Amino acid sequence: MKGLMMDFHLTVPVILRRAETLCANKTIVTRLPDKSIHRYTYREMATRSKQLSAALKKLGVSEGDRVATLCWNHYQHLEIYFAVPGIGAVLHTLNLRLSPDDLTYIVNHAEDKVIIVDQVLLPLFDKFKDRIKVSHVVVIENGTGPIPAGYTGYESLLSSGDASTFTPFSGDENTAAAMCYTSGTTGQPKGVLYSHRSIVLHSMLSAFTDGMAIGEADVVLPVVPMFHVNAWGLPFTCTMLGCTQVFPGPHLDPASLLELYETEKVTLTAGVPTIWMGILNVLDANPGKYNLSSIRCMLVGGSAAPRSMIVGYQERHNLRILHAWGMTETSPLGSICGLTAELRKAAPEVQYTYRAKQGVAAPLVEMRARNENGIVPWDGTTMGELEVRGPWISSAYYNTPDDEGKFTADGWFRTGDIVTLEANGYIEIKDRSKDVIKSGGEWISSVQLEGALMGHPAVAEAAVFAIPSEKWMERPMAAIVLKEGKSVTVEELNTFLEPHFAKFWLPEAYETVKEIPKTSVGKFKKSTLREMFRNYKA
Ligand code: AMP
Repeated sequence: MKGLMMDFHLTVPVILRRAETLCANKTIVTRLPDKSIHRYTYREMATRSKQLSAALKKLGVSEGDRVATLCWNHYQHLEIYFAVPGIGAVLHTLNLRLSPDDLTYIVNHAEDKVIIVDQVLLPLFDKFKDRIKVSHVVVIENGTGPIPAGYTGYESLLSSGDASTFTPFSGDENTAAAMCYTSGTTGQPKGVLYSHRSIVLHSMLSAFTDGMAIGEADVVLPVVPMFHVNAWGLPFTCTMLGCTQVFPGPHLDPASLLELYETEKVTLTAGVPTIWMGILNVLDANPGKYNLSSIRCMLVGGSAAPRSMIVGYQERHNLRILHAWGMTETSPLGSICGLTAELRKAAPEVQYTYRAKQGVAAPLVEMRARNENGIVPWDGTTMGELEVRGPWISSAYYNTPDDEGKFTADGWFRTGDIVTLEANGYIEIKDRSKDVIKSGGEWISSVQLEGALMGHPAVAEAAVFAIPSEKWMERPMAAIVLKEGKSVTVEELNTFLEPHFAKFWLPEAYETVKEIPKTSVGKFKKSTLREMFRNYKA
């Protein structure tokens, strides 16, 4: 027997409609590139977003077309977040920290039809614009002068759309709404395609009480970029609830963020450990300078949050760090580290130990781990690769026949993270099965760097691996074996790599070695290298 509830599809326009209806006067705040503050209401945001939907339709964007953004966190990006899925098209956020080569590959692979670029990011766009095929380039002006000929200004595009004539998408909730490429650990980056349904369900559950406990009264500042897993879904979650949203624009240095937290009375903020480490240093060096009493939660994820950092914030500044785990493929919320009733009674030391773990699976997400002996017991010591499933977990990559075995035959996603699971469900990430390096929250592929280095005429072999860094968490280091009779300087190697990689990808250090340690099947043994250079401080 079928239930008799409405077949009401969970679509992104439903989120916007609620904000517009119930929270029209709440505000959205943006720090602009010139550091001035822009402030407007959900009413204005919704109108402009619908205008943009209508204008994009006029431009020829139809259902399923990809519209790319190369943008910082700001109010126009929020408008685009709703305008593109609002016409059944796909919002494709581009990571502005990637190299021009990667961006070229990603735009071409996604076959983006339109790209919307911040005027301040045109120098980056110039580096790959001739290698991509898009029918329109739209530029979000920042008042620093005219935009180049041939491009459409964001404001003039907007004014060509009539919000009143526009009917929002109300089709199948399983239709694609957004996409984000994950940096390939092997091979090329892969496209993750979120559906309207997955976004709505993820928005609902991200707010749940045992997690971030977000509500209408919150003032939320996502430091995490809107180009990285939709800023962890916060723009959707916050719009659904009508929270005040604060966007930092391109100003992500600790002083700018601290000032914004204080003046806007932010209650919840989210970012990677590197950001929080920088802020902790400033707070420690300037006792009493900032009044952060409004902040009730600082969400951290993307890399493991060091226990010392969690303790430092709590003990010295009375600020609560909330640790979560996720991936581009998991929308991203997978697990979150609230404390159970029992743990709340435990000694502070025990609580800190737990708070440094990645927490328990969010409702509707299921987890298990597997090693060579099968599914591992939840004993807190046996390690295995984490597998997850749930309504906002990827089931396949976009247009990628070779998914590298990431999806199991019985419908789970293999994360590549090595974990232990405790009897109470808390997971702890022990390592990654692949050897990517995560610097300041961004992936660096050791394999790509090695491939390039080994193209240098003086280099016989090169292995790239992570060394610890106080500021960036990890930095790449390269061990190289020289060809006989050859020599090379660090400057020459960097100059050789520079045209192909983002600057932050360049190795922090190089070490010449006689040979690269290898596994039984001839692969570079990164674990040995990491051990050898464990005390090398970047
Ligand atoms: P991305 O898809 O770029 O968001 O990266 C996802 C990866 O980041 C995961 O597979 C983990 O390896 C890592 N990661 C995310 N959150 C955490 C965390 N809280 N602790 C440790 N590693 C994390």
